Amino acid sequence: MIRPTTARIDLAALTSNYRSIVEFVTRERPDAPPGVIAVVKANAYGHGAGQVALALEQTGAALLACADIEEGAVLRAAGVRAEILVFGALSVSDLDGLFDCQLTPTISTPGAAQAVQAAAARYKRRLRYHLKIDTGMNRLGFRADNLRRTLPGLLASENLQLDGVYTHFATADVPDSPLFEQQRVRFERALSDVAQLGGRPTYRHASNSAALLRDSRVWFDLVRPGLLLYGIVPPPLASTVPLQPVMTLTSRVVAVKGVRTGEVTGYGGRFTAERPTTLAIVPAGYADGLDLRLAGRGVVLIRGRRAPIVGSVCMDMLMADVTGMDVSPGDEVVIIGAQGGDRIDAREMAASVGTIPWEVVCRVGSRIERVYR
Ligand SMILES: *Cc1c(COP(=O)(O)O)cnc(C)c1O
Repeated sequence: MIRPTTARIDLAALTSNYRSIVEFVTRERPDAPPGVIAVVKANAYGHGAGQVALALEQTGAALLACADIEEGAVLRAAGVRAEILVFGALSVSDLDGLFDCQLTPTISTPGAAQAVQAAAARYKRRLRYHLKIDTGMNRLGFRADNLRRTLPGLLASENLQLDGVYTHFATADVPDSPLFEQQRVRFERALSDVAQLGGRPTYRHASNSAALLRDSRVWFDLVRPGLLLYGIVPPPLASTVPLQPVMTLTSRVVAVKGVRTGEVTGYGGRFTAERPTTLAIVPAGYADGLDLRLAGRGVVLIRGRRAPIVGSVCMDMLMADVTGMDVSPGDEVVIIGAQGGDRIDAREMAASVGTIPWEVVCRVGSRIERVYR
């Protein structure tokens, strides 16, 4: 039994994107190409963490990253054996999972440093970790201008071994933002502070997808693409890396309804037919992760043509205006993906409702079955 609304996940496209990224950084920096941390947090951006991670691992990804210990446990349960870096803060986490699931923590606060050191001592282990430096995003990380005071204690921790140092950019996808360059310079300075304090990390890394595309000076030893792996380029950037979209979200028309001039459709009656109108009813709604704001703004593809979403996005269905088109129940509806010669990608859908493509794919609901091929 499978619902008409499904997300097809093209694992061949995913692994091709991974290889394209590897080829791109190798071509640009053949002497010392950076490695790739494949970011599979948030259920692999809605694509399904286990299957995505295993496919990437088979393609050669040696290092994956997730948001928290619980996501790491899901990856291990799916059989992932590659190293897994946990990005998130650990100060309120149950740290046993780090050891049970062989995860590599990020230490981003002095409090977490103490907690992880104490846990590693309890397990009688020397645990490798990545240190996160805050260079101006002001979210997680040790302040870059304060390392001489905050780092010596961490570097002296008996049961902890510094394996990586990283930072995260706030504005890599904002082309004219000066903060990107400031963060780059602060990170360089922080790396030399770490070295002067005796830290000898194996890896330095900083680049999310946008930074990877934008500036090879911030590639360091590893790059950390998320969105690019899924075949989506961070707006407003353009890309020369050949990428293929990985997720296709489709449904089927379940009913076709004729509406007379002056009648409305949907909650609130916000769409009024200005002419005799034909509506296709599609069994996908906000409970499937579709944004309410698509009503009146977004489109779906039916019979190769763009049909505006009208009225309201309901919990379990939406209405599309198919006036003048020959549409029958059972016809395929493309919500994200290609049909005929046209395509609606996550970037377009995000732009139509004023959000970002990361959110569009992450929000594809748990009710929607992912079908892998
Ligand atoms: C999510 C995340 C990434 C990947 O970001 P994209 O923009 O999807 O490439 C990289 N690094 C960190 C720390 C992240 O949290």
